[in-house]
Amino acid sequence: MAYVINEDCIACGTCLDECPVDAITEGDIYKIDAEACTDCGTCADVCPTEAINPA
Ligand code: SF4
Ligand code: SF4
Repeated sequence: MAYVINEDCIACGTCLDECPVDAITEGDIYKIDAEACTDCGTCADVCPTEAINPA
């Protein structure tokens, strides 16, 4: 399992620095590398638009 970012992402960048395994990459909508994500949930906690959820 991994967390995923949906279309509510406003590309604010807040989640990027919070991921302990650098699984998040920038874009119009940010993306989580499912292989690298350890399911910690930290990014979901800091996202202002609640765009990150468990898959
Ligand atoms: Fe990174 Fe944790 Fe978010 Fe996965 S759930 S992308 S490991 S911060
Ligand atoms: Fe997108 Fe949320 Fe990450 Fe900001 S914190 S870049 S809105 S997923």
